[in-house]
Amino acid sequence: MSAKTVYFDNNATTAVAPEVLEAMLPFLRDQYGNPSSMYSFAGRSQEAVARAREQTAGLIGASPEEILFTSCGTESDSTAILSALRARPEKKHFITTRVEHPAVLSLGQYLEKQGYTVSFLAVDGKGRLSLDDLAAAITKDTALVSVMFANNETGNIYPVEAIGKLCRERDVLFHVDAVQAVGKIPIDLQALPIDYLALSGHKLHAPKGVGALYVRRGAPFRPFLRGGHQERGRRAGTEAVPNIVALGAACALAAEHTSDENTRVRALRDKLQERLLAEIPEAIINGDPEQRLPNTMNISFKYVEGEAILLMLDQFGICASSGSACTSGSLEPSHVLRAMGVPFTYAHGSLRLSLSRYNTQEEVDFVTATLPKIITRLREISPYKHLADDASPGDGAACACQA
Ligand SMILES: *Cc1c(COP(=O)(O)O)cnc(C)c1O
Repeated sequence: MSAKTVYFDNNATTAVAPEVLEAMLPFLRDQYGNPSSMYSFAGRSQEAVARAREQTAGLIGASPEEILFTSCGTESDSTAILSALRARPEKKHFITTRVEHPAVLSLGQYLEKQGYTVSFLAVDGKGRLSLDDLAAAITKDTALVSVMFANNETGNIYPVEAIGKLCRERDVLFHVDAVQAVGKIPIDLQALPIDYLALSGHKLHAPKGVGALYVRRGAPFRPFLRGGHQERGRRAGTEAVPNIVALGAACALAAEHTSDENTRVRALRDKLQERLLAEIPEAIINGDPEQRLPNTMNISFKYVEGEAILLMLDQFGICASSGSACTSGSLEPSHVLRAMGVPFTYAHGSLRLSLSRYNTQEEVDFVTATLPKIITRLREISPYKHLADDASPGDGAACACQA
């Protein structure tokens, strides 16, 4: 049992950066004024929120007036999508993809039940979208397109600039779930034809419970939360000043570190991938090897089960994610891997390793030394070895994680 946590699950959530914690502490201790109050004590909270708005806007090439603070990425996604649909009530068609985060995917499924027509665009074997498919899906009835900037499971980066251009030409609003992309790759909204963009604090070293939504100047907007006049009437509720200050500080830090993410973090990820593929036979990388976040690797090992890998990694203090969930006794590979058509015997043995700027070469070495042994051990006891690639769970595979 290792005492130290080796954290390779930064697409699930991230550590709060020490600088971010320092920035928010005064607003938890002494500076508790309500930004809406008139006295100068509260004015300091108001100034801090204004500064955080500038820092958040600065990271993504937006203007401060285009940023509204929310409670999380999910709220930002819901606000944008529901707002756009309400702003175009005569149009009843919504387009998104099969590989979205549940924050968008479940909302799409809900909208279907509410009478909307929803197109969930398919992806190819590497998780890529076809722009032709998108162009063909747009009709006169289409109100909104929502496509993620980068996928949380595979790290795939989607061509949001080209998609945005297509939407502009066809007079369709365009929302981007950029929760995984912000802070990891450069984003300049001045140059991108995007109407709404969602981000989340806890994915970029701010605490949980804060997010932001970019609403392009001039884009239609209908509030999700109504009440007080906070956020210029666009999102009622007293501002979570400490969290907002933290998000601003995290965005300012991310702006400094984006090049580091793309050099040092990328090099660590690439080294890890290269060595795992060299040492473990019958392993494949899921996703687009070129258009991919610098920190993410989704790897599948034939004949093993993802949750079993996670349990064994956990004994070494290594945190990671798997693309399959053992629910109600049956193994369901992730909707992303299923949409990509990853064969059954690989999809179940998928593992997501996602790095951050706090990971070290020593940690990569530790994972490289540990994981091959785990896979060898699991393959020795695997119930899948006799199964064909296109077998389904009903063909007799036991749920290993139930044992
Ligand atoms: C984490 C995540 C979300 C949800 O963000 P929360 O702040 O946890 O609500 C949405 N989209 C993507 C791509 C994510 O990775």
